[in-house]
Amino acid sequence: MQIQPVASHFINGEYVEDTSGTLIDIVYPATGEIIGRVYGATEAVIEQAITSAKRAQKEWAKTSGTERGRILRRAADIIRERNRDLSILETYDTGKPLSETLYVDATSAADALEYFGGLAGSLTGEHIPMGENWAYTIREPLGLCVGIGAWNYPTQISCWKGAPALACGNAMIFKPSETTPLCALKVAEILIEAGLPKGLYNVIQGLGDVGAKLVSDTRVDKVSLTGSVPTGRKVYAAAAEGIKHVTMELGGKSPLIVFDDADIENALGGAILGNFYSSGQVCSNGTRVFVHEAIKEKFLERLSARLGEAIIGDPLDETTNFGPMVSERQMKIVQDYIEIGKSEGARLICGGGRLDRDGFYLEPTIFADVRDDMTIAREEIFGPVMAVLDFTDETDVIARANDTEFGLSAGVFTNDLSRAHRVIAELEAGSCFINSYNDAPVEAPFGGAKLSGVGRENSKAAVEHYSQMKSVFVRMGDVEAPF
Ligand code: NAD
Repeated sequence: MQIQPVASHFINGEYVEDTSGTLIDIVYPATGEIIGRVYGATEAVIEQAITSAKRAQKEWAKTSGTERGRILRRAADIIRERNRDLSILETYDTGKPLSETLYVDATSAADALEYFGGLAGSLTGEHIPMGENWAYTIREPLGLCVGIGAWNYPTQISCWKGAPALACGNAMIFKPSETTPLCALKVAEILIEAGLPKGLYNVIQGLGDVGAKLVSDTRVDKVSLTGSVPTGRKVYAAAAEGIKHVTMELGGKSPLIVFDDADIENALGGAILGNFYSSGQVCSNGTRVFVHEAIKEKFLERLSARLGEAIIGDPLDETTNFGPMVSERQMKIVQDYIEIGKSEGARLICGGGRLDRDGFYLEPTIFADVRDDMTIAREEIFGPVMAVLDFTDETDVIARANDTEFGLSAGVFTNDLSRAHRVIAELEAGSCFINSYNDAPVEAPFGGAKLSGVGRENSKAAVEHYSQMKSVFVRMGDVEAPF
């Protein structure tokens, strides 16, 4: 099986190859097979991407928002028409089962293009009257934006960054994760097919060094990263050197609190989605599940029963609902955490092992009796490992939930609506859920507090991160000067 892209990079409306760059194998996570290869961008490729993006952006900024929006909405329609093919590609890139990718990847990318395409025509400034004088503001693009992606949602991430950037009149260079180089290339192709002028959405491949070169280039105006906190620190620091705009979508160790009055099956559903969807490789996952002591044993019993219904297998088989880890490296990181969990005394309820088959498959794993100070309750694992912790008191569980350096997400399951809002108001997290978990509609802002990030993606909030205001003061009378 080979899923070889036409070439490694997509620049100025066409595929570009330069085989002198670092060779990157494309590995299908379900088999471990090498299914293609790309080459990291060389200096020449980076230069080509930057110069063509800069050139194209100047013209793009002069078009009306309605024109820009029309192109983005056309791209959304094409993506929806090709949802199945794009979902299969996403599955080859990430290993996530088709039963997921058919519903949340290309479709989420299309949502972003549609939403920001719809907003584009309404991005305006305002008139500010001040008696005789007045001021007005002009919402302007930032210029050249760089997007750097993680490997868990390659199609979605490429559009969550690209759509608002383009809607606001910017150009984008997107560097996908080296682990999942395939999907963003298709997005770039489709944008051209939809009528996007060449040079505005470029995709270049590479390891961290390529990302670092982009971030430090003085011609780049904004950087949006989806990745881990350690990478975020480096990218944020490099961007600060050039006083660039940033959006940082980083890691998490989010709390999911289940009170004793919660609908237990719904809470289980939330905990399963928040820990095992995409084999647990979701930044906003609620991996610290605080369960009220009164319902803990019942919760664990039902959880084990429902996990028994997981269908682990070939991700291209639509009945499969739990696939492999994205890479051998990520699988080993998670296996190490499972060993640490056992050695620190957490009670292994189920899973914990690697499956005896090709590919990077781990069993969905649950630990109970987890204490706040255990490594598996403190560090982001980014795999199918749920930590269940007990609690009895509301004030105490809020303090424990907030006792983390991260602040991406938080969730509460309870049938007491006053409590739900009271608790959510106290939780230090950017993207929260009541009686649900991990919904990420384009209409709502998404992003983290504390070490989990800076800025917001999606919703009208994203417009603020891809545009800037020019203010113009207009004096109608004479200018009075001291001399
Ligand atoms: P990572 O931090 O290893 O890599 C992310 C991207 O940064 C990759 O494209 C990588 O090549 C690039 N990169 C690495 N070093 C760089 C440097 N010095 N300069 C510029 N770019 C550099 O993350 P990952 O392993 O790909 O993804 C998993 C992480 O991403 C997890 O921590 C997860 O929580 C986080 N994540 C966050 C969100 C969110 O929206 N908050 C979404 C998905 C994943």
